[in-house]
Amino acid sequence: MQNDSVIIPLQAIIDDITTKHRIRLFVLRLDQNHPHISGNKLFKLKYNIEEAKKEKKKTLLTFGGAFSNHIAACAAAGKEFNFETIGIIRGEEHTDLNPTLKFAMECGMKLHYVSRTLYQNKKELYQHIEQQFPNDSFYLIPEGGSNILGVKGCKEITDTITIDFDYICCPCGTGATFSGIALSLKENEKGIGFQVLKAENYIKEEVNNWLSEFHSFSQNNFSINEEFHFGGYAKVKPELIDFVKNFNTQHSIPLDYIYTGKMMYGIYELIKRGHFDANQTIIAIHTGGLQGNKGIKLT
Ligand SMILES: *Cc1c(COP(=O)(O)O)cnc(C)c1O
Repeated sequence: MQNDSVIIPLQAIIDDITTKHRIRLFVLRLDQNHPHISGNKLFKLKYNIEEAKKEKKKTLLTFGGAFSNHIAACAAAGKEFNFETIGIIRGEEHTDLNPTLKFAMECGMKLHYVSRTLYQNKKELYQHIEQQFPNDSFYLIPEGGSNILGVKGCKEITDTITIDFDYICCPCGTGATFSGIALSLKENEKGIGFQVLKAENYIKEEVNNWLSEFHSFSQNNFSINEEFHFGGYAKVKPELIDFVKNFNTQHSIPLDYIYTGKMMYGIYELIKRGHFDANQTIIAIHTGGLQGNKGIKLT
């Protein structure tokens, strides 16, 4: 599904802080890898789409909130790779579609709304889906595209990097993307996952669960930072908003407020604290998600 020769830009970031601390910082622009299936979601979908084709499924069925990057990516992938798509959307239907759902529908996705209570109860939700849609006619992709095939796809993110690095940083929602990164690290490379939601040890446990599925895994050269969630998933604070705006002004790189903004804020805090040594090279993965900014209230 992915063109292996695709080149993902690695953009050098030079400013007062990186200069003062003599850090070589680069942003891996996964947000530019595809116009609509942007960022990490393309990697998470790759092997799921292959599997759906292999199983001769005509429909992809998946889940997400009303502003979900995954819903947008999955709808676009369905259009591009000739699948029908069904999106199970958390919450009530609104007559005015928000930009994410409007985009999904324009890609041909059928939207099916379920209450938040039902959405949270996975067993009841799956029963509901089986009743609503004829059994076994679809390929099911979990929320966020986070399953083993998603992790497998994310192992390939570092293949696109053409320079040596000491650290690689990635925002974590479910931790599936970061697990793929962790699995791909060489001995002298370290990973830092930035947890964007508030729940102690949540990503640590999730990542350990994903990694235990890969028996070849033996290294332990990564850590999860839980300091920069700004109060919880999709929560923002004035200092985060200012940071994202200033970063875009200075470096012409738009960040989203849910994932990449929090990671980048965290990276700068760690640089200022002297967490990295002089002359070390850090790669920050821009996992995309810019469409999700339309759902964030900034006032
Ligand atoms: C979905 C998403 C993530 C989180 O990926 P996980 O694999 O769930 O940790 C990070 N960044 C962006 C922009 C996303 O859309």
